[in-house]
Parts: sequence; C-alpha cells; structure tokens
Amino acid sequence: SLYNMLQDLKGSIRVYCRIRPGFDSEVESSIEFTGDDGSLRIADPSKPKDPQKIFQFNKVFPGTATQEEVYRDTQPLIRSVMDGYNVCIFAYGQTGSGKTHTMFGRSDACGADLGINYRALNDLFEISCSRSDAIKYEVRVQMVEIYNDQVRDLLGDDSSSTIEIRSCSGNGGLSLPDAALHAVKYPEDVRRLMRLGESNRVLCSTAINQRSSRSHSVLTVHVHGEEISGGAIYGRLHLVDLAGSERVDKSEVTGERLKEAQHINRSLSCLGDVMAALGQKNSHVPYRNCKLTQLLQDSLGGQAKTLMFAHVSPEADSYEETISTLRFAQRVS
Ligand code: ADP
Ligand code: MG
Repeated sequence: SLYNMLQDLKGSIRVYCRIRPGFDSEVESSIEFTGDDGSLRIADPSKPKDPQKIFQFNKVFPGTATQEEVYRDTQPLIRSVMDGYNVCIFAYGQTGSGKTHTMFGRSDACGADLGINYRALNDLFEISCSRSDAIKYEVRVQMVEIYNDQVRDLLGDDSSSTIEIRSCSGNGGLSLPDAALHAVKYPEDVRRLMRLGESNRVLCSTAINQRSSRSHSVLTVHVHGEEISGGAIYGRLHLVDLAGSERVDKSEVTGERLKEAQHINRSLSCLGDVMAALGQKNSHVPYRNCKLTQLLQDSLGGQAKTLMFAHVSPEADSYEETISTLRFAQRVS
C-alpha cells in the first residue's frame, strides 16, 4: 500500500501514540485526538488561552481503541519475523500510562484483553502451521529484566544472579547465552512462561516497592526456519516493556531510589540517542552506552524494524509528563 511505501521511504522506525482511557470520566482531559492522520493536540490545562501543541505520529490510538485494533497495526511487523527480519517493539511512558496493558494485557482475563506479547506468539504459531509443508520453524523465547543496568533471567532457575550480554554477530547467535531458552509451540506454553517470568519479577521486588515499574522487561522470541529447499531463516522479535519514564524529584529521593532513577533516566535517554542516530542515518550509533541498547543492538538499525508506543495518560495533572513523553517520541521518529 501507499502507506507502507511511505513508511519504507521514511525508514524503519515507526511511532504510535496510545492514550489511556480516563479512570474517571468526570476528570477533564487536556488531550484532543484529531482523527486518522495521526495527529494529537494537547492544551496546557494551567494556560487554557495558550495555543495547543500539535504532535504527529504514524498512528494515534484513542482511549477507546481495543487491544485487537492496536494489534492489527502491529501485526505486519510481527509477521515479518517469520521471513527473517529482526523487530523491536517498545512500550514507553510514565508509570500508569498503559505500557504493561499494551504489551501483556490482563493475562488472567479472556482473549479480548490479551496484549501484544500473547497475540504475537499466537500469530507466529499460526504462520508456522500454515507454512509447515515448506518450512519447519522452531520458536524459542527468553525473558529478562534490566534493573540498575544489570540483566537478570526471568525464566531460569536463578533470577537473583546477573547475566552478561555477548555481542552476537551472524545468524541465530544469542546475545544472552546464559539466559534460559524455552521452546514454545502452543499458546499455553507462552502463558505458563509469562506467569513464571512475572512471579520471578515479583520475587526480586520484596526489597524495593513497585520494582516492575522501575525495570525494563524484555521478552525475546527467536525464530529459526529450515526450508525444505535447503535454506535457513533467522528472525528475532524483542518485546520491551520499559521502566516508567517519569522524572523523579531529585531533592526528594535518596539512596536506592535515586540510583534507580538515575539508571532509568540514563538508559531511556541512551535509547533515545540510538533511535535518533538511526533516524538521522548517522554513521555512529551509540549502542554501547547502556545494557538495554547493547542487548537490542542486533535488532535496532540495518534491516531491522522498530516500533515505539508512546503511552500517555489523559488526565490534566499528567500534563508535564505527557509533554515529556510526546517530545521523546517526536525525537525518535
Ligand atoms: P504502566 O505499565 O504504564 O505502569 P499499566 O498498563 O499498568 O500502566 O496501566 C495502569 C492501569 O490502567 C492498569 O490498571 C491497566 O489495566 C489500566 N489500563 C491501561 N491502559 C488501558 C486501556 N487501554 N484500557 C483499559 N485499561 C487500561
Ligand atoms: Mg507496567
């Protein structure tokens, strides 16, 4: 389609904005969504006379958008993994803006609430079945957490010790050789592993409140296809639920919380630097500055495809954080 052609010309980074529905419909929203062209207008609630700011995205999903609608616009990227592409999908935004809802959804709930992670794997299984006459696919997953610039395996026997990232060049290499690698075939396998990952995340969090919003979680899907004709296909999909992007007031936090905040700020701005460098086709891309971009290096840039969801809360009192998220998204797109 024309849309896809324009996308290809523009490069391989797409940015979608998703607006969380308001928790209390009485609360006035400062965000106006202006239709299909991907633009979003936002007014400063404390300065209602000022002109609205306008931001442009590849797509804007209003609060009424369903998980299925969001997935429909993500599916082509996911499917390309089966053809040998490397793909990264990020959920960015302040805590409470809907990142985990987009990526995981409510796994206890019925199908309609499932997020991208489940839908993506189900899709890969379906493609694998439908092509089984010509290609034998193997789908394997790893899941890690990056907290304070240290990587921990969420699907292994020991989620308390840290693991190292290797730079892996070439097809099918693993950048996390020490993280458990699980073959998956059925949606039940995925649900079981997601539950295991989530429980390991909680186990580590006893000392620090709300750890899950202070760490990045990365679910990596490795696809290997053996063609009957003799060829091989390697594809990789990283599904990343980023740590909350909110700025903490440095005068108020100390110790562990300050250290956490510094690591989060640093890794998110490092991700922004990498994406901005790729968008500008710079010859130097600063992958090595944090663990997050080191880990994703093979799937950011080159032939790889990247999609970032910028999540915003509609409430007026989130205005400052929302503007900061929109600016980040603008910078990387
Ligand atoms: P984050 O991961 O960014 O901190 P969550 O995904 O946990 O945010 O979302 C915060 C709350 O809002 C959760 O209770 C979640 O179920 C709800 N929520 C977020 N986005 C949506 C949405 N699009 N539709 C319905 N509920 C949502
Ligand atoms: Mg979350």
